[in-house]
Amino acid sequence: MPTVFVVGSSNVDYSVMVDRFPDPGATVLGTGFSQTVGGKGANQAAAAHRAGAEVVFVTKVGADAQGEMIIQRLREAGLAPNWILRDPIHESGVALILVERTGRNQIAVAPGGNQALTAQDVRHALSHMQHGDLLLVQLEVPLATAQAALQMGKARGATTILNPAPAQALSDEVLRLVDVLIPNETEATALTDCTDVEAAARALFARGVSTVIVTLGEQGALLCERAGIHRISAYPVHAVDTTGAGDAFCGALACGLAEGWTLERSMEFANAAGALTTMKPGALDALPTREEILRLQRSRP
Ligand code: ADP
Repeated sequence: MPTVFVVGSSNVDYSVMVDRFPDPGATVLGTGFSQTVGGKGANQAAAAHRAGAEVVFVTKVGADAQGEMIIQRLREAGLAPNWILRDPIHESGVALILVERTGRNQIAVAPGGNQALTAQDVRHALSHMQHGDLLLVQLEVPLATAQAALQMGKARGATTILNPAPAQALSDEVLRLVDVLIPNETEATALTDCTDVEAAARALFARGVSTVIVTLGEQGALLCERAGIHRISAYPVHAVDTTGAGDAFCGALACGLAEGWTLERSMEFANAAGALTTMKPGALDALPTREEILRLQRSRP
């Protein structure tokens, strides 16, 4: 089976629950603390692995205790640390998160080693990529690194997938390197200045992406390709925390394509994986197994 190469970020997320956010200059006492490993790259790599894919995860952490924690946690999640690079200068990426009782959050990220992942690092890691493999990239690493990864993926005959998150302006040169673009609704509209999601998908398609899949949260997802636009509805689940749903979707979609499934079938699989992730708190800990995804799919005719 083809391998899914994921190039992206890894962080330690420090979260404190608060009754209300502090005003500038003020301190509030929290009501709970958690320390977890996250980052879109780490979540998507783990999601693809849990969905059943062979995964190589390329990321960069610092030579610090947080870096050790990331390696350890990803190992527990089934990911080999071969391409978790250590940066001697930068610290590991961390996210400081305040979660209000209402569910709202405030997040500050220090990207650390993620911003030190270079095109050269990626070229080295992807030199093992073979024709027919999958490449999955997000934008929590420098754009030049993401672009170099996509170029290398294309040159080696891989199917390239870009989750353009967090949203930032992308040139046509970058978009032409992408076989499957997976923005959420906010990213699709931000990338195109279109307020309508179908118009945004069409605009991105027209700029040279072969396939655009827009994830629409509890509205499911929309596929835009040469044949036209096709919508699928979300699974009716009891969502308790939607963090990581998009990451689960991207990882599971890459897994489906690695299986040789059609885009439609892979998207159905990803839709189920996204839904299941909303049913548990957190991201990495909420990712479903392949069996759980298939079981949910079987429950819907
Ligand atoms: P992101 O996390 O990037 O904002 P979305 O919120 O669009 O991404 O969610 C990604 C996918 O997860 C959706 O396309 C859908 O398949 C699934 N999903 C998200 N929220 C729900 C929900 N409330 N109920 C069912 N499925 C959901």
